[in-house]
Amino acid sequence: MKWRDEIRKGKGRVILSEQRVRALVARYRPHGWRIHQKSNMPYYDGLSHYPEQIIEVPLLVCNFSIFTLFHEVGHVNRGHFANWDRGDHPRTIPGHVEEYEAENYAYHLMRAEALPMTAAMVVAMRWNVGIYARHDKWLDIPLMPYCIRGMRRWRASN
Ligand SMILES: [Zn+2]
Repeated sequence: MKWRDEIRKGKGRVILSEQRVRALVARYRPHGWRIHQKSNMPYYDGLSHYPEQIIEVPLLVCNFSIFTLFHEVGHVNRGHFANWDRGDHPRTIPGHVEEYEAENYAYHLMRAEALPMTAAMVVAMRWNVGIYARHDKWLDIPLMPYCIRGMRRWRASN
């Protein structure tokens, strides 16, 4: 995939100082959650574990990896784990809405922190929501128009 190659190759990647990364983590780490940085994780992969309350992210060194952290923070802060103690179908809202919310959350934190968003990052965001949208469609779950409209508003920062 083209976006994946561009991110892997570091097109538009901006290295952040340790001090800046520390400040961002201190500001946005959800209360009670721990952040584990993994040296073998690609910039665009993140994972949240509940009930352990652990967020796994790539090494936090650049705009790409911080975006991945912000996406996972979005899942936590939008309450996507609210049903997880209740058994077999833990989602509170359809998968494509959860992913849209997490991506949109990350997008707005990037803008608020003036961290650059590349065109490949925006393509990746839409690609991710699209996967869940297709799955939901297959389950006969209607796509939420505000997600589709919202995705169209995402823009690269330059
Ligand atoms: Zn996600």
